[in-house]
Amino acid sequence: MNYLQLAPYAANPEQSFGRVHDEQPSLTRNAFQRDRDRIIHSTAFRRLEYKTQVFVNHEGDLFRTRLTHSIEVAQLARAIARTLKLHEDLTEAIALAHDLGHTPFGHAGQDALNECMREYGGFEHNLQSLRVVEQLELRYAEFDGLNLTFEVREGILKHCSIKNAKQLGEVGQRFIDKTSPSLEAQLTNYADEIAYNNHDIDDGLRSGLITIDQLSKVDLFARNLAEVKELYPKLEHRRLVNETVRRMINTLVVDLCNQTAKNIALHEPASIADIRKLPQLVHFSSDIAEQNLKLKQFLRKNLYHHYQVNRMSAKAARIVRELFTAFFENTGLLPNEFQAYAETDKARAVADYIAGMTDRFAIREHRKLFTVDEYL
Ligand code: MG
Repeated sequence: MNYLQLAPYAANPEQSFGRVHDEQPSLTRNAFQRDRDRIIHSTAFRRLEYKTQVFVNHEGDLFRTRLTHSIEVAQLARAIARTLKLHEDLTEAIALAHDLGHTPFGHAGQDALNECMREYGGFEHNLQSLRVVEQLELRYAEFDGLNLTFEVREGILKHCSIKNAKQLGEVGQRFIDKTSPSLEAQLTNYADEIAYNNHDIDDGLRSGLITIDQLSKVDLFARNLAEVKELYPKLEHRRLVNETVRRMINTLVVDLCNQTAKNIALHEPASIADIRKLPQLVHFSSDIAEQNLKLKQFLRKNLYHHYQVNRMSAKAARIVRELFTAFFENTGLLPNEFQAYAETDKARAVADYIAGMTDRFAIREHRKLFTVDEYL
């Protein structure tokens, strides 16, 4: 980071709380860059390409997947970090890793798996992302997981119950102490929200499940749509949508940067240690927070609970439940390495196996287990 002076309260790789297993520093990269690179090279990262964001992977080639979503989050997070003089490499690493623990089939898959795991500690995708980078990736000779710095793991763990926090050691401590994570972690959380609200509008319109007419009742959309129509009265549909969505993203990003800069000026943090003691400083202004909430409510009602999405979610939940039951009742159906693991913790081994699946792999596994077909 030599092209830009970092703020004194930015995270600094030289003063990182470090890794669980000591390693020689890289000769060419700072610790956060190295973490980002390890995430990109992980198996879980490649799997994101075939995991659902809202639309199941086979529904269309142009819809967002978890992979393109994560890349969009990283883009927004880096832009916000640079504006606020925070550490871009750290935000990028957190953004690229934040969804690594997602099950196949998006939230429908996670809810079904959580239900299956109710008596065995539950399942939560955010905790699972941490589990992927701390334990499940098997790439290095000397440790399980990716051995990422504390700051990246802290950023991945966005929320956590006190009960779970007590089992997580240093990375769970802030939920017990009620302190804040780095500003880089805080802003990446917002970048996630800005990315999915806006790309879900785009995907929702492309799929035809929602319409411009419906969206015109949402302030944030209507205001930007009117601006585009005023400037370009004859613009065709696709460009009209894109020009509107890019203005919405800009409205949210600029507001977030301005409000956060005000909050920083008010509290005058001198270091990242101060940031941890202060309430979270990354926020929208109250006006934009309100408009953003309305947009989320609109998407929940009209897109995420559209009957066509519900049908896919119901199918997805059934696949996850049936896979879980089949493996749980007969661990002999699991691949060898998971069978060995199932001897120590059957439910968690089954959950880890299912959570790692892509949409299409889960569909194929389900077919292999439940369909008698000479070609399978
Ligand atoms: Mg996300």
